[in-house]
Amino acid sequence: MYILRRLKHEKTEYKMKRILMIVMVFGVLTFSCQNQKNETEKNMDNPFFSEWTAPFGVPPFDEIKEEHYMPAVKEAIKQQEEEIETIVDNSEEPDFENTILAMDKSGQLLDKVTGTFYPLNSANTNENMQAIAREMSPLLTQHRDNITMNPQLFERVKAVYEKRNDLNLDKEQLRVTEKYYQDFERNGANLSDEDQETLRQLNEELSTLSLQFGENLLAETNENFKLVIDNEEDLAGLPDDVIERAAEAAKNAGEEGNWVFTLAKPSMIPFLQFSEKRELREKLYRGYFMRGNNNNEFDNKAIIKDIVKLRDQRAELLGFNNHAEYIIDVNMAKTPGAVYDFLEKLWYPALDMAKNDVKEMQAIIDSEGGDFELASWDWWHYIEKLRKQKFDLDESEVKQYFSLENAKKGVFYVVENLYGLKFIKRDDLPTYHEEAEAYEVQEADGSHLGVLYMDFHPRGGKRVGAWSTGFRDANYHEDKRIPRIGSIVMNFTRPAGDTPALLSFDEVSTFFHEFGHALHGLFSDGPYDRTAGRVPRDFVELPSQIMENWAAEPEVMKVYAKHHETGESIPDELIEKLKQSATFNQGFLTGEYVAAALLDMDYHTPENPKIDDVLAFEKASMDRIGLIPEFIPRYRSTYFAHIFSGGYSAGYYVYYWAGVLDTDAYAAFKETGDVFNSEVAAKFRTLLEKCGADEGMVVYKNFRGKEPSIEPFLEKKGLK
Ligand SMILES: [Zn+2]
Repeated sequence: MYILRRLKHEKTEYKMKRILMIVMVFGVLTFSCQNQKNETEKNMDNPFFSEWTAPFGVPPFDEIKEEHYMPAVKEAIKQQEEEIETIVDNSEEPDFENTILAMDKSGQLLDKVTGTFYPLNSANTNENMQAIAREMSPLLTQHRDNITMNPQLFERVKAVYEKRNDLNLDKEQLRVTEKYYQDFERNGANLSDEDQETLRQLNEELSTLSLQFGENLLAETNENFKLVIDNEEDLAGLPDDVIERAAEAAKNAGEEGNWVFTLAKPSMIPFLQFSEKRELREKLYRGYFMRGNNNNEFDNKAIIKDIVKLRDQRAELLGFNNHAEYIIDVNMAKTPGAVYDFLEKLWYPALDMAKNDVKEMQAIIDSEGGDFELASWDWWHYIEKLRKQKFDLDESEVKQYFSLENAKKGVFYVVENLYGLKFIKRDDLPTYHEEAEAYEVQEADGSHLGVLYMDFHPRGGKRVGAWSTGFRDANYHEDKRIPRIGSIVMNFTRPAGDTPALLSFDEVSTFFHEFGHALHGLFSDGPYDRTAGRVPRDFVELPSQIMENWAAEPEVMKVYAKHHETGESIPDELIEKLKQSATFNQGFLTGEYVAAALLDMDYHTPENPKIDDVLAFEKASMDRIGLIPEFIPRYRSTYFAHIFSGGYSAGYYVYYWAGVLDTDAYAAFKETGDVFNSEVAAKFRTLLEKCGADEGMVVYKNFRGKEPSIEPFLEKKGLK
């Protein structure tokens, strides 16, 4: 489940400059007409046009109405356009203040509007909000393009960049200048008009192809396949709740009286785990791994060939050897070679472990008199049996120790011991929903650090998964620090009757994880918006994942994991089982992830990017690493949405990369014999405060005194 959660979280990126936000809108929407009225008037009843006076400047959620957003965003865009025009029209020589700083501090109103709208559109949306998002999104895209493709603006940025070493700039000023220049350059600002036109065409074609890939996959997942069971015998082995959900799914699919299983993981995985009907497991799993590969109108193979080719052309146009070089150039890893090295260090131990698990599972099959060899559709079923054989973790017993209140106490205990922080619940602050709790965050000396909203349970209008976001980034305005107003949103089990909300350990880890993102935002401290707290994609999960280590630390668990009725601390035996379950089946879990990450890299670093046959390419790629037939990469090419329709091309590796960072960083605490060591905590806080101020590896080495080591990660996963 660890892995499933991580996948859900994948779309959440911390602290993108909001203007660059890619907005995704789901569902069927109706256009709401009242948004049209008075759009262009700067109506002073609109709360976005006045100073916010609630404590700490939190948004006046009770006063902001849906009809306020569009007029506000239009006015905000207009204001930033004027700010950019002022920069461009300045008759003085371009310098840091009149160009870089002016650009960095432009768009304040836009931050305010989008910074309120988008978090709410995820946590508390409705059809009207979605319609607004639809209307807003193209305006923002166009506005962003107008800035990043403004040749006069670029000319000034370039002028400052070229003389940056003669301007007496301090380190942070130098970095922000370089980052802005790089942003323009990576968008093609340095190209000839003709090449810029080519680039625009490539981008357009790529975005159409990506969209098509995603739509095909959606149809192949949700419409083109389902397993309908009309015979009770074929339910053999399935737990009651799984059968109930399948009956419900059948009703929704117009198959009342039957049972339906789909290719969505919450439906498919329990079937693969528990069904005793081997031929049905195969049928369902084939449906899953053949998506986009059925030679029908939804086939993705031709699209993949085009995407790979066009990405390579674009990379070359921008001065890189291949797409992976272009992408990884701004990451911590820096080069595709470093990513390959890293992935291969994980791959071979994982493969060994998986091979060993295959043997043990085959022994179970043989002892049961099964006359077959373990195949990929058998893995979940027999690994479940192997798990039961080795240790039997009763999830419902575990939950008794993890009430939501205990989990909160645990997280507060950890940050108080590390950083002296205090979280004070403030019922007087406006909230966007009665279930969203507001906390003031105070330093050890009582001074104000920021505000954090926490919103725990599912409801209509909240998207699935868990994420960290915020209504205001910590920033500086005329040398005055403006603190963060953050928010974490989860979908945890609700309380039932007199029983409090009891969380699975996976949910507890999610809470600590999102809380870690929140801390990153609260601590973040830098004078410039472009760099403060801004980290590369392969760094972004370090602050979050490291918190999961404290959640799982036995001495910490003893403090917060108490039985909700008896108040007794969690028994050692349960802690031990939780520990074992964290390393169980890692050969497969790590293996299928790394295989997919390597496939991603192979597509984006080919010597000759002309791929004649996608299936042959995939096979050659997997043969090269010696993948065994008993499992397949977590994503095969034709449904690898992260890399062909999402934004993770040449970037699927980042989750485990950050895993190495967090484990190595946590080892810095462990090595002192005190997981709350104050010296290490102070250094780690500095890392969180200043992580945007330099390259990822430099920041990390400042904290650790050396480059991260992969060994602790291998140990944690049981791969060593
Ligand atoms: Zn995260």
